Amino acid sequence: MQKQQSVSLKKFSALGIGGAAGIVYFPESAAELAGLLADNPRRPVIGGGTNIFFGDLPELICTRHLNKITETAAGVEAECGALLEKLFDFAAGVPATAGGGVAMNFGAFGYELKDFLVSAQIWNCGKINILPLEELRLGYRTSGFSGTVLRVLFKQKQLADKAGCLRQRQEKMPLGKPNIGSIFLNPPGQSAGALIEKAGLKGYRLKGLQVSEKHANVIVNNGTASAVDLRELISFIKKTVWESSGVELSLEIKYIGH
Ligand SMILES: Cc1cc2nc3c(=O)[nH]c(=O)nc-3n(C[C@H](O)[C@H](O)[C@H](O)COP(=O)(O)OP(=O)(O)OC[C@H]3O[C@@H](n4cnc5c(N)ncnc54)[C@H](O)[C@@H]3O)c2cc1C
Repeated sequence: MQKQQSVSLKKFSALGIGGAAGIVYFPESAAELAGLLADNPRRPVIGGGTNIFFGDLPELICTRHLNKITETAAGVEAECGALLEKLFDFAAGVPATAGGGVAMNFGAFGYELKDFLVSAQIWNCGKINILPLEELRLGYRTSGFSGTVLRVLFKQKQLADKAGCLRQRQEKMPLGKPNIGSIFLNPPGQSAGALIEKAGLKGYRLKGLQVSEKHANVIVNNGTASAVDLRELISFIKKTVWESSGVELSLEIKYIGH
């Protein structure tokens, strides 16, 4: 198994924000991943880093080498680090993984992963179980299971219009600049981006960060921003939206570290 020591975590977040990790593990089989978790269940696991930013961490597991996709009679089986865009055109242009996608119930263009999911193999407290879709309890950008996804079984791939999905995404998102997609969840019946825009924050800059000119619910890192800077900007956006609309925004993105 590959490992890297004394690593900058910037390159593990699509936003380019991270402190340092003592060691990052890159398991190459589900058994190696399960072994790392058995040794220390508190080791955080990430996939593509497209929805997360980091402070400092002692250890991290990155699943990017667990990327096999196999077609079987039961459906399409993907290891947790397989890229979603190789399976679903609604993920085109986003280097997210099957494991992170299930954890967040990735969705776009009217589809969600739960529409295609049959079951997932989960490591939890030393046991490996196959959980059917209902037991994963997937909701709007959330899941309700405990543990780590090792493999996912999907009914089928959906690759009908990858170029069209990519084009639409390029029109709406600042794809060329470091970002981790939508920062806040859409409140019921409302758009977080529209609320941020109404609060006058589209294009707002703080240190190396900017609320995207293209999509107000996305923050881009134009320079050398730190996790502290991003948390400051998030607090400022929440406060300003609360003052302008009386709506309390909740975070979609994840943060680990200190
Ligand atoms: C340009 C861009 C566009 C985006 N567009 C969308 C979009 O249209 N729709 C959408 O839903 N999201 C979007 N996102 C956000 C992001 O891609 C999703 O949340 C995605 O599901 C995260 O997958 P990941 O592999 O990158 O997870 P990571 O960012 O690595 O991790 C996210 C969370 O999942 C957990 N996790 C990762 N792997 C596992 C595993 N094997 N088992 C258990 N938990 C795990 C992590 O611990 C963390 O809590 C976008 C992001 C970017 C950068």
